[in-house]
Amino acid sequence: MTLVERFLKYVSFDTQSSEETDVTPSTPGQMVFAQYLKEELETLGLQEVSLDDNGYLFATLPANTDAEVPVVGFIAHMDTSPDMSGKHVAPRIVNNYDGTDIVLCEKDNIILSPVQFPELLEHKGEDLIVTDGHTLLGADDKAGIAEIVSAIVYLQEHPEIKHGKIRIGFNPDEEIGLGAHKFDVEKFACDWAYTMDGGEVGELEFENFNAASAKLTFKGRNVHPGYAKNKMINSLRLANRFISFLPGHEAPEHTEGYEGFYHLIGMSGDVEQTTVSYIIRDHDRARFESRKAEMQRLTDLVNAEYGETVVTLELKDQYYNMRQQIEPVMHVIDIAFKAMEEAGVTPHVKAIRGGTDGAQLSFKGLPCPNIFAGGLNFHGRYEFVPVQSMEKAMNVIVKIAELTAARQ
Ligand SMILES: [Zn+2]
Repeated sequence: MTLVERFLKYVSFDTQSSEETDVTPSTPGQMVFAQYLKEELETLGLQEVSLDDNGYLFATLPANTDAEVPVVGFIAHMDTSPDMSGKHVAPRIVNNYDGTDIVLCEKDNIILSPVQFPELLEHKGEDLIVTDGHTLLGADDKAGIAEIVSAIVYLQEHPEIKHGKIRIGFNPDEEIGLGAHKFDVEKFACDWAYTMDGGEVGELEFENFNAASAKLTFKGRNVHPGYAKNKMINSLRLANRFISFLPGHEAPEHTEGYEGFYHLIGMSGDVEQTTVSYIIRDHDRARFESRKAEMQRLTDLVNAEYGETVVTLELKDQYYNMRQQIEPVMHVIDIAFKAMEEAGVTPHVKAIRGGTDGAQLSFKGLPCPNIFAGGLNFHGRYEFVPVQSMEKAMNVIVKIAELTAARQ
């Protein structure tokens, strides 16, 4: 099977994950796909092939050198986004894309156009795999799985390329934030790994937000408004004032790159009691801490003004920037960087404005940056992946294996 054949086979499985269940994997379709992959890996002659009850599939390509080489892992997720159906995906290949509109569905007039998606033009002359306009494609992250399996096959067919032990890991439920959750890092037993789950060619990510949630509860004192003078405390007005103390421009809609923010995500209340929820995000750990401290300072300020506790603050850290876990092992990035260059890809380091499974894995002791898988417009009907981007990702995997061994 070729890389493209493999990809087309994988997207025929409906593996949409769901936030509505509390089992792992969250949907049975993921286990069906995992079983299929398990058989494929066994047929390919991989070793230590294991599929656990939670749907985590691991396998090993043994080293073909006696040298001491670190064990490197490659990870991709089997589920697709709950945002759109991944059932009966009917992909089509647009060969030698000419830069014009692509009609996904003529009947319903669904068009993938470079007017809305100018990134299409970066892939003129390439072969694009698109949807029929009624489902997502599932390149996120089945492109990653196809690339990893194809790279393994390539290494098997080219014994002249010396490599150490390679581990592969396919996990469920990444799209609902639980991919790293039950990932057995000890059993995976790698020195480091890469998730193949980024977008455009060249993407290399090893920074994400530090994240916390903040819940503020404002306590009011309700009195008949006709008799309220010097007695009433209106919790709605307290909350409103508190919100106005925070810098309004430090919000998601006004920030980009490495700029952090306070994001007001909910408020509800009445005169008696109002609750206000924020999420706090910053790549820089010190700035992250000072954002939380500022919330506390304002809380204390308001309480001091009233001489009683009218507002309480609950802060909860959610996740941290994986950079602090990667920095002590920067060769993990150097190797990926060099592998891309040798595969003819210009590396493009980007800070994630969110979290990733790789961040969670990094804090579980497995340094795990993210590399492009090549797909674009994830999670919807306009998702597509250029065949040439998948080939590049596959070549990067092969190069990483080769460079890791050569480095020793
Ligand atoms: Zn993904």
